[in-house]
Amino acid sequence: MADKAAFLTHLSTTLAGIDAEGLFKRERLIGGAQGTRVTMAGREMLNLCANNYLGLADDPRLVAAATQAMADHGYGMASVRFICGTQDLHRRLEQRLAAYLGSEDSILFAACFDANGGLFEPLLGPEDAIISDSLNHASIIDGIRLCKARRYRYANSDMADLETQLRTARADGARFLMVATDGVFSMDGYLARLPDITALADRYGALVMVDDCHATGFMGPQGRGTPAHFGVRADILTGTLGKALGGALGGYVAGPQPVIDLLRQRARPYLFSNALPPAVVGAGLAALDIVEAADDLRARLFDNAAYWRAGLADAGFTLLPGEHPIIPVMLGEAALAQRMAADLALRGVHVAGFFFPVVPRGGARIRTQMNARLTRDDLDFGLAAFRAAGKAVGVI
Ligand SMILES: *Cc1c(COP(=O)(O)O)cnc(C)c1O
Repeated sequence: MADKAAFLTHLSTTLAGIDAEGLFKRERLIGGAQGTRVTMAGREMLNLCANNYLGLADDPRLVAAATQAMADHGYGMASVRFICGTQDLHRRLEQRLAAYLGSEDSILFAACFDANGGLFEPLLGPEDAIISDSLNHASIIDGIRLCKARRYRYANSDMADLETQLRTARADGARFLMVATDGVFSMDGYLARLPDITALADRYGALVMVDDCHATGFMGPQGRGTPAHFGVRADILTGTLGKALGGALGGYVAGPQPVIDLLRQRARPYLFSNALPPAVVGAGLAALDIVEAADDLRARLFDNAAYWRAGLADAGFTLLPGEHPIIPVMLGEAALAQRMAADLALRGVHVAGFFFPVVPRGGARIRTQMNARLTRDDLDFGLAAFRAAGKAVGVI
């Protein structure tokens, strides 16, 4: 048993080290529903850090759709999809997602983490090559690690480097090439340069895979995502129901029929993990109906983003350029980001500091995110708190 004691001591030392570096993440408890205002420790807080872009996370229409689906279809599936876990609802949502995204078909996963984790390995082998943006989401990185294809990495959004990697992969004799990118890089709010990426991919005969988690529902016409925003096509899209599309959970891959059909046969997170529950699937269908017609919510979201960004810039904060509703306030050191978040909490604003390992060391920030349901009063309250907190910690 000495070994077990030593092991646990080792873990405690690691935890103490994380804390000493100011990198320890503490979870705050929300007492009610997710929304623009949340209750924490009995206090109402303005919430500026959810991926709740269209404000649907507590929408009564989704709660009703989920309740109805549970009444009709029960609570749980107690099965993976291929044994006895596929209801009419699951196929309806897959077809509805495919139609919305302009793909032949789609396949649901428990989360986009699983969609990305299971995507590459069945589709590509050791003769093939994946060319991946250096800032891609952890789930894409893990999915690529699980795949036997050769790996090439290009510096974030560096099109000259992408071309170098494509050329190298071709010179190395790769059979099929696939470029993998986030549609929006979630720590910065930067959009992938899809017109350039798709043009280069065409030139080198590569497929393009886009993870559009931070875009589906609100970027582009009807919220069809970054390819629609730029008027280009991606061969394979992955995404989540856990952000703008209601915020519960669930992921998907959308693409050509043989891609989806092979994933249904071979993708390990699909084959060896439970089917999504009816409540989530039913509400997912309702979310797509709402989102497709939500030009008003999208307009308010981008109005809010412009107003918030201008207010922060006016106060003297360092921002990254862009128009996306992810608006990071750059602070540098993790401890400073933690102090600023703590100070904002005292002023009734809930935000999270982001620091290593989710962003590079020295790149700590508070990532604020806009939502269509935030009012001007909410934003003015938030801006006043940011000004006061920024002065209190000495960054403005
Ligand atoms: C949130 C996110 C994921 C994970 O989505 P889940 O459905 O929560 O697992 C994957 N990729 C990107 C780019 C994300 O932002």
